[in-house]
Parts: sequence; C-alpha cells; structure tokens
Amino acid sequence: MAVVRAFGKSSADMAQREAERLAALESLDLLDTPRDEGLDRVVRLIKDIFTVDIGIVSLIDAHRQWYKSCIGMPVDEVPREDTFCRYVLDIEQPIIVEDATRDPRFANNPAVTGDSHIRFYAGVPLKTKEGHVIGTVCAIDRRTRSFSAKDLSILTELAGVAMDRITLLQSAATDGLTEVLTRRAFRSEAEQLISLAVRHQHDLSCIALDIDHFKRVNDTHGHAAGDEVLKAVASICKAGLRVGDLFGRLGGEEFVVLLPHVDRDGAMAVAEKLRTAISAQPVSGAFGELTVTASFGVSTLSIVSKDIDTLLAQADAAMYQAKHRGRNRCIAWSSLQAVDTTGSRRRVLKAGSILFNDRRSTIDCTVRSLGTDSAGLSVSSSAGIPSEFVLSIKGEGFETRCQVIAQDRQNLEVAFR
Ligand code: GH3
Ligand code: MG
Ligand code: MG
Repeated sequence: MAVVRAFGKSSADMAQREAERLAALESLDLLDTPRDEGLDRVVRLIKDIFTVDIGIVSLIDAHRQWYKSCIGMPVDEVPREDTFCRYVLDIEQPIIVEDATRDPRFANNPAVTGDSHIRFYAGVPLKTKEGHVIGTVCAIDRRTRSFSAKDLSILTELAGVAMDRITLLQSAATDGLTEVLTRRAFRSEAEQLISLAVRHQHDLSCIALDIDHFKRVNDTHGHAAGDEVLKAVASICKAGLRVGDLFGRLGGEEFVVLLPHVDRDGAMAVAEKLRTAISAQPVSGAFGELTVTASFGVSTLSIVSKDIDTLLAQADAAMYQAKHRGRNRCIAWSSLQAVDTTGSRRRVLKAGSILFNDRRSTIDCTVRSLGTDSAGLSVSSSAGIPSEFVLSIKGEGFETRCQVIAQDRQNLEVAFR
C-alpha cells in the first residue's frame, strides 16, 4: 500500500500526532466555552497593531475551526477544510500570505473569491507547553499587505500571551458573565460528588439545558441583549436550585446541574420546574421584554453511568432529543435508552468521517461522545446527511453502520446498527 507522506511523516504518524493533539485539546476543555475578555483584548491588539480588519484566536478540532475570540468576522466557526489555518496546523509553523490571489493554496478559497474578499493572512500556531498545536492566532485583512520579521515576532508574542491566558483560565472557578461555575470547575466538583454517591450508594442526577433559538436573540436584539438573557436564565435556575446542587455553564447558552440525592423522577421534576420558570419569566432590558425557552436532558447515576463524562454525554444526548422533538421540553436519557440504545457513553474528542452514497461521499465530523452502541457527533452542517451512514473513526480502524436518532443543525445522535 502506498504511504502518503507530508513533511517526512507517514500517514500513520500524522494520524497519531492528530490523536495526541486532539487529546491535548480535550484536556483543556475549551471548545465552545464562553467568551473571555483577556482573549478579546488580544484580538483587539492584533487589529490595532497591524491595522487589519480581522483578528482571531482559534481552536481547531477534528472537523472545524472554532473562534474562541474573534473581531471582524460574522461567524464563530468554519469547516476545517475551508480554513487557511489548517496549513499552519499541518506544518506547525507560521504562515504568511501577503496576497492570497497569488498563492495556489488559497487563490480558489471561497473566502478569497467570494464576498469576504480576504487577501492577507498571517497565522501562527497556538501551542501548548508540550508542543501540541491546539489552534492558531491570526491577523487577516481584505487588502494585500506585507508583514515584516518584526511583525511576525509581535504576532508570535501575542500567541504566547493568548496561550498564557488560556492556561490561566484553567484555574478560574466561575464564569465572568453569569457567575456560575465554569465547565472545568463544575466537572471537578461533580467528580467529587459522584464518588461520594457511588461510595455511599445514594442517588445522583444530572441535567443539561440549552436555551432554544438563542442565536435569534443575538441576531435580532444584539449580543448585549443575549448576554442579559444568559444572566437572567442563570439566575432563574440558581433561584430554583438547592444550596447543595452544583450549577455550571457548559458553553455559550448551555448550562448544567448536578443533583446529589436525587433520582431520575426527582431530576425530571426539577428540570420541569426550571423549564416552566424560564418560560414564565420574560427578561426585560433596553431591548424590551423577551421570553425564552430551554430544552432539558436528564441523566442518572447507575451501574454503567458513574462518571461525569458519561452523565454529561447522556444528559446532552437526551437534550438533543428534546430539541429534536420540538424544544421547550424535558427528556430523560433512560427513556431514550429503552427505545434506541443501551449502555453508557463517554465524552470524547475524536476525528471521524461520515461515509454514505456507497462511500462516495465523505463528511468530516468530531465524535463528541462514544458508547458501545451509540455516539454523539458534531458536523459543520447536518444538511444533506442521510439517516443511515457508515461512521469511521480515523486512525483507529473503527467502522460501523449508524442510524440517526436525533439531530439539529450541527449535532447528530446515532445508534449503531
Ligand atoms: P437551538 O434551539 O437548536 O439550541 O438553537 P440556538 O440558536 O440556541 O443554537 P446555536 O448553537 O445555533 O446558537 C447559539 C448561539 O449562542 C451562537 C453563539 O454566537 C451564541 N453565544 C455563545 N456564547 C454567547 C455569549 O456569551 N453571549 C451571547 N450573547 N451569545 C453567545
Ligand atoms: Mg441553543
Ligand atoms: Mg447550544
């Protein structure tokens, strides 16, 4: 068999390096976390120092580039294959493109040929202490320009500042906007409560909730209104929970609750109470009055689900099912399990491919959670993906036929056939 070589590395080496890189990214647990003022400052500096239109601090997972912080771009993620930054990832070195129309790698890129009219790109790797490239820091402009050695050294310093900030963020216990636990802090406190519950054999449940159509709030009323809604939803939830419950912000508009001494029915009752409270209390501000709803997924400690990653993955899967069935509702994982799947599921971050059309069509995905008979996948767009396909996990030789059991714009829940 022919071995594909790039920069002297075999494809097996590259798959291994990519798996290690994804593991490093997973352990930072940063994807889809809320915005951070420190990193926003870095992108503002990029814009001001180099007088460019766009500054980005990005993270790159298996299928997409996600902007942890960004100024000058209307979206917050792009498919990995469409990005300039994937070349930085490949060579683990800075790339400078003074005129993209003259660079064969980029001249036909839609960002260059289309309305975005990108011409200039300078990207440096965002590297962990251990040397894994988890993303990029870039300066991008709609005009051609030059970039001196000194400019590159400043951008490289800024990437260092961004990485230091990311390292520091690991120790933050609360989220600046909503003042609830960060995802990381939530996980570590949850781990302790779970081990107590396992040792003393008492109940424990987890609720994941995600605000419905939150993008519309931002798009219609602006980001500041979105922030007000997030604060209001967080405070409604806090008011409805007990002192011993853990409450955290998992991502942009996704929150999580851990309920010690509460079984599945109890957790469904809590979820229902929070759901009603959110939909009954309009948020008021400069934008007027807004009513929002949220979708809830519930999971419970059991013999096969006794770690935080499993509970989160199951609550998440149930939450996507609640979205699928029309939003503004609560669904328990165990009821999903009876119909569609059995067994546990762990949160992971793996590179996968979705194959269909007799394997002629391939779509890259990130495997977010994985069990023996089901998985949660993220894609750039779920449009056009059939209800049955083959899932392959890159570099692991894992392949299985899947049936879609729930989906939204960017997430698929699948059962293995
Ligand atoms: P669904 O009902 O399927 O959940 O749709 P949705 O629109 O809520 O979901 P989607 O994930 O498409 O959009 C979430 C949006 O939340 C996109 C993102 O820009 C926004 N967002 C993430 N973090 C923040 C934040 O801190 N503040 C504000 N205002 N918006 C945020
Ligand atoms: Mg949402
Ligand atoms: Mg969401």
